[in-house]
Amino acid sequence: MDPRYSILFEPLKIGPVTAPNRFVSMPHAIGHSYLMPNGAIGIRETRAEGGWGIVAMHLSEIDPTSDLAGLPYERLWDEGDVAAHARSVERIHSHGALASIELAHTGIRSRGISTGYPAMGPSVVPILKPDMPFMAKAMDKEDIRNLRQMYRAATRRAKAAGYDIVYVYASHEASILWHFLSPAYNFRTDEYGGSFENRLRLFREVLEETKDEAGDDMAVAVRFAVHELSGPKRILNSGEGRDVVEALADLPDLWDVNVSSWSRDSGTARYDAEGFQEEFTSFVKQVTGKPVLGVGRFTSPDAMVSQIRRGVLDLIGAARPSIADPFLPAKIREGRIEDIRECIGCNICVAVETIGVELRCTQNPTISEEWRRGWHPEKIPAAGNAKTVLIVGSGPAGLEAALVLAKAGHEVTVAERAEEMGGRSAREARIKGLASWGRVKDYRLYQLQQMPNVNLYPGSELDADGIAEFGADHVLLATGAPWRGDGAGRTRLTPIPGFAGAALTPDDVMDGAAIAHSVVIYDDDHYYMANALAADLAARGHAVHLVTPMPSLSAWMGHTLEQPRMVAEMKAAGVRMYPNSVATGWSGEGLAVSRGDTGEALPAIAGATLVAVGTRLPDTRLGEALTAQGLPYRTIGDAECPGIIQGAVYSGHRHARELLGTEPDDRVFKRERPTLFL
Ligand code: ADP
Ligand code: SF4
Repeated sequence: MDPRYSILFEPLKIGPVTAPNRFVSMPHAIGHSYLMPNGAIGIRETRAEGGWGIVAMHLSEIDPTSDLAGLPYERLWDEGDVAAHARSVERIHSHGALASIELAHTGIRSRGISTGYPAMGPSVVPILKPDMPFMAKAMDKEDIRNLRQMYRAATRRAKAAGYDIVYVYASHEASILWHFLSPAYNFRTDEYGGSFENRLRLFREVLEETKDEAGDDMAVAVRFAVHELSGPKRILNSGEGRDVVEALADLPDLWDVNVSSWSRDSGTARYDAEGFQEEFTSFVKQVTGKPVLGVGRFTSPDAMVSQIRRGVLDLIGAARPSIADPFLPAKIREGRIEDIRECIGCNICVAVETIGVELRCTQNPTISEEWRRGWHPEKIPAAGNAKTVLIVGSGPAGLEAALVLAKAGHEVTVAERAEEMGGRSAREARIKGLASWGRVKDYRLYQLQQMPNVNLYPGSELDADGIAEFGADHVLLATGAPWRGDGAGRTRLTPIPGFAGAALTPDDVMDGAAIAHSVVIYDDDHYYMANALAADLAARGHAVHLVTPMPSLSAWMGHTLEQPRMVAEMKAAGVRMYPNSVATGWSGEGLAVSRGDTGEALPAIAGATLVAVGTRLPDTRLGEALTAQGLPYRTIGDAECPGIIQGAVYSGHRHARELLGTEPDDRVFKRERPTLFL
């Protein structure tokens, strides 16, 4: 191990337990609810195997009155839930890691619709989901006594399951303790409302009682957002974040601190740099003598060491970096820094959780596949017979497939038309704000360059004859999908009059096409491309008009939690925004638009250059020419089905494994079947 990093591997005493090192795989949504325990255990066990000293069970509801209906979270409602938790703990322990659990009552974040009990909180307020017509009831004294008993009982169950660390969770506006603390939600006039001490009372009581139940067996951690960067900001405005830490300073065994709300805690690379939480959390170690844990999308061991040496944190927490590379600590320990698969900060992992899907990651295609498909993030089964494989195209799909097949022992050649390898992960990384997209190619190219059985040929366009002449045993077409310029998009599937031949595509802009001062960008894609180009062009001095048929800009960035910040970025950059505006034609001097909802015509939006950001269409001619020659091949990535970068990486990985013959012929992977009581 590099001695510079040895501090990261020093054990740390936390109350009655000792963490073996300073790496903490944080509590975070993994899209596997209590209904999918095997898949969830697969994820956590892999983390423990990868060297994380503490591996967390994410938010676990303690009672049916905490009802996150429809969201894939955990439950520890009664004794019947203990067995699945115990199994998870046992798998984590088997690799020498500690197991923690984030117990929570979600108060007014609950929905009160699935279990039939009303959501409850300090006062009669709407639940924290304005688009849902449900309210929370005000808790009376008996409810509060019951709630304290719920926490005690859940702590006993956590102990029975074998956990080493139990959390009192008061963060992300998702905890009833936070709701009582915040004057934005707490309008009580009794001893649980009003003054700071009164609003803190429930938090303090639950913490003391959790410590009492934990005894000498479990450490008690508090997770608390010390700063509100979005939301009602009542605690931030009054400086009470610090007051809470001072008031409870040495009561917990561990402070796990972050910022609120979730969108700011999980800031993306476009808006927040590595270590971005330090300015908000660095005071905590001055206030408490207990160990402090924090996050900040840490992927660099130097940044981690710096946090510890400068007295900011004692433990380095990682959610996204541990998703992107479950073996990050092991790689640091083994001096394999270049092998770290760095999180690119895109929040696809977050986006899929918000739509109730198992965890997905742009950098790590094996996440969620550990149990059901048996995919390991580092180990690829050896190919029985070494074969030659030709991969045409070096984008995320081509490089990922190359890596899997080369690791398996095949002789792999990658031919790329462009002078630079990396496809869209290289090209898009040059757009303002998207530099980290380049990590997708950086990681894979570096790995491939170290392998003797890999040949990389940039500047090599291949046609069907060239492919036939090469004579590979297997051919993979990873040739991507160019953007359409005819106006066909996600809401309108056919061309828009005046677009074809006149509109530039994102490919044209990335290739440096001439662009007039005044630009109209029509976004019928609804992810990052249109607004990233808008910010880029605005920074280069263009007057930019960003037009979209949807009621708000970039609906998908609502799922990546970036939408409010993206809109603020557009505003600050001087980009004029036109939501709810359907393009009906381009005149050469302006875009004709009508309202998305009523169809009523709107004034044309003047501009000299039109950029159409719609859908992408694979070029199938190369495949057809191969078919005509009788040459078998597989089409992978965007060339098979255009999508997000995560999809291309996943596709490259899956196709490569299929080629290895390790995947089920009928496509059906292992599933977690519900029990049928007959
Ligand atoms: P994906 O996201 O599916 O990996 P990309 O668009 O990122 O796709 O990458 C596709 C790559 O394939 C591009 O870099 C492109 O230059 C390259 N390419 C396309 N056609 C050919 C070809 N005939 N020969 C070599 N390279 C090609
Ligand atoms: Fe990081 Fe993106 Fe993977 Fe999430 S999906 S862990 S943000 S690379």
